[in-house]
Amino acid sequence: MKKLFFLLFGGLTAFLLGCNQAPKRPHAAGIALTFDDRYVEEWTQLRPLLKKYGAKATFYVTQFDSLSPNEIRLLHELVKDGHEIGAHGAAHIRVLDWLRGGGALDDFFKLEIEAEVHSMNKAGFRPVTFAHVGGQQTWWTDRRLLRDYFQLLRDVSMTERHLPFITLRQPIFAIDDIYYQFDGSQKVHALLIDQYTHLTNAQLKDGLIRAKNTNSVLILLGHRPLFTPSEEPYAFSVQLLEKLLQDAQRMGLKSYTMAELVKK
Ligand SMILES: [Zn+2]
Repeated sequence: MKKLFFLLFGGLTAFLLGCNQAPKRPHAAGIALTFDDRYVEEWTQLRPLLKKYGAKATFYVTQFDSLSPNEIRLLHELVKDGHEIGAHGAAHIRVLDWLRGGGALDDFFKLEIEAEVHSMNKAGFRPVTFAHVGGQQTWWTDRRLLRDYFQLLRDVSMTERHLPFITLRQPIFAIDDIYYQFDGSQKVHALLIDQYTHLTNAQLKDGLIRAKNTNSVLILLGHRPLFTPSEEPYAFSVQLLEKLLQDAQRMGLKSYTMAELVKK
């Protein structure tokens, strides 16, 4: 009798646990490439490489109203390839510097956010994600950005940060906020791949492995692509990017735009 009770109780527990299990997430592990500022012609030269690896990217454009008609045409070409054009501020204003300097909050929204969205709309773009300028943000401006303008905000993280007299380092697999877990979060960070941080492909591979093993998306950020070597700190090596794309493809990782991360 006792045995029967345990069998029944065990079966019931297993059944209830089974019912409580979250449905299997349909999202595949992957990477999300983002590029900031306004290197439209150089970004366009990445098109064949991105096509070769079936990779999508999000280009966060700043100072949109100063783009030439040709640059706007090139951005539309990128959209045709499946890439996303996101917003990165009308004048590249760092929000904390602006407020500390006595700038009004409403003016920040008017001059930096609304002016950017307006210029983008006029050129036929509807941005749904935003990249913070200079990694600066506040919770109350974020709240308004998400309430009135965007579905996702992106900040920056680094494996290496140079301060006076000291360099702070952290391993790529330990930076939790650069991995998107499909948990509905609307604030994410991207890992800077510019030469400033001296990232190697071995380090990036560690990041890909964590994304693969945790069914998450590794988010990356670069500024100007360097097709030939140079010492420029806020630019990234195209060779590094290609090796990353090769590794991601070999590991079966999917490539996402930022809007796709929060798509319902
Ligand atoms: Zn920027």
